[in-house]
Amino acid sequence: MAMNIMVIKKLLAPLCLFAAVSAPAQHLVDSKTFSAIANEYSGESAQENTRRIVEYHRIQGSPMMASVAEQVVLPRLKAFGFEAEIEQFPSDGKTRYGTYISPMGWDMRAGELWIENASGVKDFQPIMLCRYADVPMCVSTYSKGGEWSGELADVGSGTSDADYKSIDVRGKVALASGYAANVVREGVIKHGAVGVVIYPAAGDRPDHPDMVRYNGIWPRAEEVDKTRSGFQISRNQYDTLKRLMKQGAVRVHGKIDATLGPGKLTLVHAYLRGTEHPEREVLISGHLDHPKWSANDNASGSGAMMEAARTLQKLIAEKKLAAPKITIHFMWVPEYFGTLAYVSNHPEARRCDSPWDDPRRQQADAFSSGKPCIVANINMDMVGEDTVKTNSRFYFTKSPDSVPSFLDGLLTDVMAQTREADLYAQTGTRNY
Ligand SMILES: [Zn+2]
Repeated sequence: MAMNIMVIKKLLAPLCLFAAVSAPAQHLVDSKTFSAIANEYSGESAQENTRRIVEYHRIQGSPMMASVAEQVVLPRLKAFGFEAEIEQFPSDGKTRYGTYISPMGWDMRAGELWIENASGVKDFQPIMLCRYADVPMCVSTYSKGGEWSGELADVGSGTSDADYKSIDVRGKVALASGYAANVVREGVIKHGAVGVVIYPAAGDRPDHPDMVRYNGIWPRAEEVDKTRSGFQISRNQYDTLKRLMKQGAVRVHGKIDATLGPGKLTLVHAYLRGTEHPEREVLISGHLDHPKWSANDNASGSGAMMEAARTLQKLIAEKKLAAPKITIHFMWVPEYFGTLAYVSNHPEARRCDSPWDDPRRQQADAFSSGKPCIVANINMDMVGEDTVKTNSRFYFTKSPDSVPSFLDGLLTDVMAQTREADLYAQTGTRNY
């Protein structure tokens, strides 16, 4: 790969030289505007925002999610000089937004999973497998508070009736590789297990044997009485358990200090109001949630958005950029649920009528209705992806023909302009 890039660079070098001495490329964004933004925007600041955000276990509907919104995002936006606010919607495992049932509120404080005893090992001393304070992702999201202990029973995937045909898990702990929500419904609620321990499925990321995957129970309100808690373990920890289980029964002990109950979906809004048509907005969104320390998904998008907001606000205040003619609305949300709660509760959050929708209206003034609406949405998710680690590229996917947009033309051109400008954060990688 590196070799190929070097060869291409050598081949292109004479062409670039030629381009440099001829007229600069023409772009839709004028060079003064582009350069003002490029100089003000700081990759380091975006990363610093990201560092603050990842300190929180940001689960949708949880008070931890409200904390990061109230303690990190909102105060920073206000310090930048923004008109910014928090908006909350009920999240209780029964309220529906569109086709989605909102998650329960979940206040997670502490949790531990221990190997309590291995009957095949003489003078066995307990071994800790998980401590929430060390690896927050080792506790299944939306685990119910409480304590249990029992013998481990490996039920394979553990997500269907068939997995429990030949194994009685009543009073035991289901050791399973399926999605925790389904393992709890099958193993605990239907078949009487006291708790679940989830291990990586065979062949799942074999290069990362110590990895603990994100997994969740997602109980609905009517299941709160019957649900239990779960833990995730790594492949190496699973191998240890299996080795011990070959020698005799293995008992584990799980303890969770958490509360499941009515919670809130917390959103943060910030606005740069339009000078000509403030009722029309470009919506810039990103999901602020995800488990500690999920940095790429999506502290990175949230942190980059905060820096984009700061950049525009500062350049406008310094009169280096004109204020926008239509409103720019930044919105940090709990993924899916927050967006759906927002559009369900705000009838004005609808697509602006486009003159292209109806040829007869092409002559009409597209702005004449004066109704609030959304011109376009740019959603920033996982913008901190390391394209070298993932052997990926920076792609631009055009909108489908059924949803035509000026964004296709504009963003294709901005991407080309960005590439030509060869922009890098001083302390960042040189990866494109
Ligand atoms: Zn995401």
